[in-house]
Amino acid sequence: MAFNNNEEKQENQPITFKVYSDLFLFNKQKTLLQSNALYQYVLETSVFPKEHPSLKELRDMTEKHPRSHMATPADEGQLISMLVKLINAKNTMEIGVYTGYSLLSTALALPSDGKVVALDITREYYELGLPMIEKAGVIHKIDFREGHALSLLDELLQDENNKGTFDFVFVDADKENYINYHKKVIDLVKVGGLIGYDNTLWSGSVALPPDAPMEEFIRDLRGHVIEVNKYLAQDSRIEICQLTVADGITLCRRIS
Ligand code: SAM
Ligand code: CA
Repeated sequence: MAFNNNEEKQENQPITFKVYSDLFLFNKQKTLLQSNALYQYVLETSVFPKEHPSLKELRDMTEKHPRSHMATPADEGQLISMLVKLINAKNTMEIGVYTGYSLLSTALALPSDGKVVALDITREYYELGLPMIEKAGVIHKIDFREGHALSLLDELLQDENNKGTFDFVFVDADKENYINYHKKVIDLVKVGGLIGYDNTLWSGSVALPPDAPMEEFIRDLRGHVIEVNKYLAQDSRIEICQLTVADGITLCRRIS
């Protein structure tokens, strides 16, 4: 399949199957929207002008990091902030911190006595974002815990007092474990509380045939993401809403 390297020319092309798969799977398109130009419009019109200066600093720092593709984009950070405020969340959790863009978005949105328990298998990336989190004046809201999230969730579940107490949980770690995370997080979030699963459209690959051209890491995890989406859709304990923001976010409201 021919791949046009000229991003300028591709910017306003409509989504056809071919263009769509080329752009995503060769990492040329940073959005599920119709074009990069439209995405830039959203960012420049509605997101960047409202972005907290510490979030901008953290984003600029992260862009230079070799694993910056893992970072939560600014429009998604804005959505998380809005959700946290709309549901008046006070007790929250994040699984998968990296340099902390979604964590800082959450911490800034919480009231001064709000808390976010932040789980990551390594402190290494979190420490890169720490100076900006400290500068933003929200470090007192963050309880960072290093380790495999499944073990850390088990620790939380050992204390009965933690069950049904979280208003909001954002899951953005290893996609292979999303179903395992769900089986634990569902008991920690309160009835009426919200869980957000990130990257549930996985660069659009969930809707492509298995033999479509795609990057190796997209192909490797695509099956897991498809399974998660099926799993969440059949779980009667939750209501769901698939958002097409960023790389796809599935919102789940616990109902029983
Ligand atoms: N939410 C982050 C942000 O706003 O930029 C991005 C998170 S990044 C996509 C995924 C993170 O999950 C990485 O920091 C990685 O270290 C962490 N991670 C991967 N496997 C994990 C595991 N088993 N337990 C806990 N954290 C894990
Ligand atoms: Ca993500």
